[in-house]
Amino acid sequence: MSAPDNNRAEETVDSPSTPTVAVVHYGELALKGKNRPAFISRLVRNIKTALAGCGVRRIRNLTGRIVLDLGPGADRAALEKRLRRVMGISNYSLGFKVPAEIGRMEEAVAQEAARHVFRSFRVATKRADKTFPLTSPEVNQRIGATIKARTGAAVDLSNAAFTIHLEILPGEAFYSVERLPGAGGLPAGISGRVAVLLSGGIDSPVAAYRMMKRGCEVVLVHFHAYPILPKTSQRKARELAEVLTRSQGRTRLFLVPFGDIQSTVVTAVPGPLRVVVYRRLMFRIAEEIARKTRATALVTGESLGQVASQTLSNLATIEAAATLPILRPLIGMDKQEISDEAARIGTFDISIVPDQDCCTLFTPKHPATRTTVREIEAAEAALDVPALVRQGAEGAEEAVIEFP
Ligand code: ATP
Ligand code: MG
Repeated sequence: MSAPDNNRAEETVDSPSTPTVAVVHYGELALKGKNRPAFISRLVRNIKTALAGCGVRRIRNLTGRIVLDLGPGADRAALEKRLRRVMGISNYSLGFKVPAEIGRMEEAVAQEAARHVFRSFRVATKRADKTFPLTSPEVNQRIGATIKARTGAAVDLSNAAFTIHLEILPGEAFYSVERLPGAGGLPAGISGRVAVLLSGGIDSPVAAYRMMKRGCEVVLVHFHAYPILPKTSQRKARELAEVLTRSQGRTRLFLVPFGDIQSTVVTAVPGPLRVVVYRRLMFRIAEEIARKTRATALVTGESLGQVASQTLSNLATIEAAATLPILRPLIGMDKQEISDEAARIGTFDISIVPDQDCCTLFTPKHPATRTTVREIEAAEAALDVPALVRQGAEGAEEAVIEFP
């Protein structure tokens, strides 16, 4: 599928008319054989959920694209805002429908073109109906000549300032001057369910987003130290969850009281080992929640070497406490790359609101950067680990967040 174009029309002469269709294209490279029907039906379902209340009259799965027929009251701004977040869409066009008959298409497309001012243009036709009597280049030439005659603009196939897309399907065709980028990836939910450890920081929301982009539905688990610390981190977790929910429609967020558990650790575990012990407890509690919600992996926002708990040896010691696979989508990214992505997906501004989460609580200045499972297990022998895990898992409160 061709990339989105940033049309550089110098101006639009008429007031823009309200599009009557949106044509959604998905990344066909991602579609291998048997997965295809599941991919498409999940995508259709996710689009339907995301666009509830936006004035979509009908959603059709046609050859290689999903076509949304829009009602007269379609809310274009909402439509764009929501479609942009649906995973699995490579790009989408807002445009119009015309019978698949060359004279009708020519007139409609030329009229639409005449509403804009541009120096150079091209017509990009995709013929999904191979029985249509003209080939795509023939259609491009014919309609291009008409537009050229009417506007005086030059045809430029390699670097046009303005591109008009035309898609010919059996009986109907769609044309558009607006092709917008989608989120890419795979439809949320198609790869299964994972539990993401969501702090109030910058990294873990990006990790969640990346997993959603690979088709996962995410369950979120946040550890807080209320009432020892204020409720800020919980509020942030909820706001982050709201942003993420735009890509999956419904999210379960578990808020786990962790302050008392940490207080217990402090009484029994030497300072330098505490961070690793906290993290191992978090993994065990998250695993209980994963089991309950039928999530099959844990996800963190860890990135190698970023802080003391994220050295290779500590990552290994921490994950030894878990039995589920631990996925770390950000492991090879640096902070700047992660922050840029957070800004793009809209979580950065929430994440940078100052707060103390449970990680800053009872954390020594110099945590050990090289720990071994043996040494940590020895330290944990002073704790009733199963009781602490039960305390966290049973104390968790669930919030359900829905979008729209
Ligand atoms: P983040 O920006 O995601 O908080 P970070 O760079 O601050 O990451 P750490 O604080 O060491 O790194 O946390 C590493 C990972 O552990 C986080 O990305 C997150 O997945 C998990 N984590 C840390 N604190 C919490 C918490 N309070 N609740 C849930 N998960 C947490
Ligand atoms: Mg953090």
